[in-house]
Amino acid sequence: MKIYRSHILSPIDDTNVQYLRDQAITIDAGSILRIEDYDPLRNPKIIDRSDCLCLPGFIDLHVHLSQYRIRGCYEPALLPWLKRHVFPEEARSSERPYALALAEEFFAALAMAGTTTAVIYTAPFPIACEMAFQTAHETGYRALIGMTMMDQNSDAALLGETRTVLRQSIELYEKWHDASDRLDYIFTPRFAPTCSPALLEGVADYAAAHNAWIQTHLSENPDEIIWVKELFDGDSYAEVYDRYGVLRPKTLLAHCIHLSNREMKLIKKRDAKIVHCPDSNFFLKSGEFPLARIREHGLDYALGSDVGAGTTLSMLYQAKMYNFRSSLSRVDPADALYRITLGAAHLLGWSDRVGSIEAGKSADLVFLEAASLLDSNAEDITSALIFRGHELSVAETLINGKTVHLSKN
Ligand SMILES: [Zn+2]
Repeated sequence: MKIYRSHILSPIDDTNVQYLRDQAITIDAGSILRIEDYDPLRNPKIIDRSDCLCLPGFIDLHVHLSQYRIRGCYEPALLPWLKRHVFPEEARSSERPYALALAEEFFAALAMAGTTTAVIYTAPFPIACEMAFQTAHETGYRALIGMTMMDQNSDAALLGETRTVLRQSIELYEKWHDASDRLDYIFTPRFAPTCSPALLEGVADYAAAHNAWIQTHLSENPDEIIWVKELFDGDSYAEVYDRYGVLRPKTLLAHCIHLSNREMKLIKKRDAKIVHCPDSNFFLKSGEFPLARIREHGLDYALGSDVGAGTTLSMLYQAKMYNFRSSLSRVDPADALYRITLGAAHLLGWSDRVGSIEAGKSADLVFLEAASLLDSNAEDITSALIFRGHELSVAETLINGKTVHLSKN
């Protein structure tokens, strides 16, 4: 059992944030046992984070582990960027030493950024995915991890035969699905152009039979959308996925920038979830997320870094970009905080465990060195946090009560 003394900022919903000054947070067996006003008599032995702001650990719903080292390699469109930077780098993860070193570097960086839950793509090799799972398991990370699947229209070094790619993914699912209550496998067809109908159908059938997770990309870049129309007989991009059964309640669709109303209605009908990656979208000049229409259609969305097209793992930076990259629709700081914490937890169906700081939830916490912000109210602190929080140092990150990053004692 351990007790932290700190100041708690925690989301209530997408418009309200709670700020509690000078609290004692008691952690026992990985969970938050109790939260109470700090009292030196009742809580004589504490870990002092009284110069920090304590937040729920951040949730990144879309990140490519295998692209961590190529952040910032500029190419102002998706398809040439994939060919020139991504595919050669992902090919390096076919070797175990490279894949392991990269996984260790990546999870350490996630912890340093205060991210405690991540939904991850690895390079399209079982060894790359295996190294990611092993590292996540050893460090205690909370994650969905999947091996990127491709069986057509990409570099030969990254392609697999359809049945082989499916078998490899199912083997990884079987190994990791029940191995830990913090880890699960997510089937990861990269995007429609590099996946044959047989592959998409195979993934969807298996996911339906096992209630498994799926993640993919949808409607990101104009050239990509034209390519999908050429490859799949003119169907809209969302309809292509739906034709093969990919759109399901446990399907995470990254980007969703150029969707028609008809596609939005289809996604709503299937109850698939959307991951908005604003930093990435503007790095690759993909376009602006149609926030007003997404809201009108009642679609469920939260945020992802999309590293390596996203430039940083900092989810506070992504929250800022969510505001900055919305030119027509209002994005309030409380909404931005919600999309990287409780809103993302709701989207995953994990809000009973993570996403806010409450007794009974898992102790997934981040302590930010924020002495200059503490003497204020919830609204002003949340605003400062969203617009300059990415400059604050992360003193400590906990997942399930275990310290995964520590910059000060
Ligand atoms: Zn991506």
